[in-house]
Amino acid sequence: MSNLQDQLHRPLRDIRISVTDRCNFRCQYCMPAEVFGPDFAFLPSDKILSFEEIERLVKIFVSLGVRKVRITGGEPLLRQDLPKLIERIHHIAGVEEIALTTNGTLLKKYAHDLAKAGLARVSVSLDSLDEDRFFEMNGHRGKVSTVLEGIEKAAEAGLQVKINMVVQKGKNDQDIVPMARFFKEKEHILRFIEYMDVGNSNGWRLDDVVSKKEIIDRINEFSPLKPTEPNYIGEVATRYQYEDGQGEIGVISSVTDSFCGTCSRARISAEGKLYTCLFATEGTNLRDLLRSGEDDESITRFISNVWENRDDRYSDERNEETMRKRKNSKIEMSHIGG
Ligand code: SAM
Ligand code: SF4
Ligand code: SF4
Repeated sequence: MSNLQDQLHRPLRDIRISVTDRCNFRCQYCMPAEVFGPDFAFLPSDKILSFEEIERLVKIFVSLGVRKVRITGGEPLLRQDLPKLIERIHHIAGVEEIALTTNGTLLKKYAHDLAKAGLARVSVSLDSLDEDRFFEMNGHRGKVSTVLEGIEKAAEAGLQVKINMVVQKGKNDQDIVPMARFFKEKEHILRFIEYMDVGNSNGWRLDDVVSKKEIIDRINEFSPLKPTEPNYIGEVATRYQYEDGQGEIGVISSVTDSFCGTCSRARISAEGKLYTCLFATEGTNLRDLLRSGEDDESITRFISNVWENRDDRYSDERNEETMRKRKNSKIEMSHIGG
């Protein structure tokens, strides 16, 4: 395995690839409808990486140590023929696991084909079980019942399913326990995500964050939890098992308990820019490099150089000053997909 390391001795193990910047939702914390309205200029198709280009990049990243590939968006299931991309990646020697993050609206339709193509895991985002609250949060676009049907189909198709819930104070924090109860019964792992200051358009305020501690305290009152070991080094969610032995939850605490020290993830936007941090302000254009006639060897050297120079640890350093410095210049979540 490659012994490539960044400035903080972190290897490169995961790659998250956004396959589209478009979405059929307008979640207020990600693509608020006021900003991403009817006139918003999404990327034209020739500016988006083709499946061939993505496949080529994954092979290069695998040679640098990547073992896990996550497909995301925008909403990745809006990308035509996505199962064909999964199949291509599945055939690359060295890829140990392919996962997908989706809002679940099209999962019912594609779950079977995705599983057949070699997808192992799916993370489905769902912020509430209350139809009205969910509708409000996703910009009046989607129903809870559709997402739940997608989750059922994914499980039936043999995919390992996890649920992601972004918690925002005053918006859906009353749903923490109902969601925990529901998915405990369904035997799916629910992961709570602290609301993050990604992008520049969601008007993030620290006061809107519900901390990992508060989330755990509330669930403890419903059903006691005990911390458990991570599945592997660099796992983003802190795991907790229910003391009654009936399942587990996770919390992704980027704001109140950061985990930059083990961050081994690179991200590629739909237009083919490489980002070494979720809170980056600039990416490295790989698309033009791929299209310039450079051979794999020189692209590999180029990427390796970017990783060797990486010293990102935004969440570890988050404070008034670092936030002010990056104000209005961070990459949007819908570009790099979380
Ligand atoms: N559309 C897909 C979905 O929603 O699952 C994939 C892309 S979405 C950007 C990936 C994940 O990022 C989702 O789980 C979403 O809830 C999360 N996310 C988006 N904006 C966020 C924010 N400001 N704070 C925390 N999580 C966020
Ligand atoms: Fe779309 Fe996902 Fe962003 Fe919601 S979180 S707007 S579903 S990309
Ligand atoms: Fe990784 Fe950047 Fe998140 Fe830290 S802030 S865990 S370096 S993506």
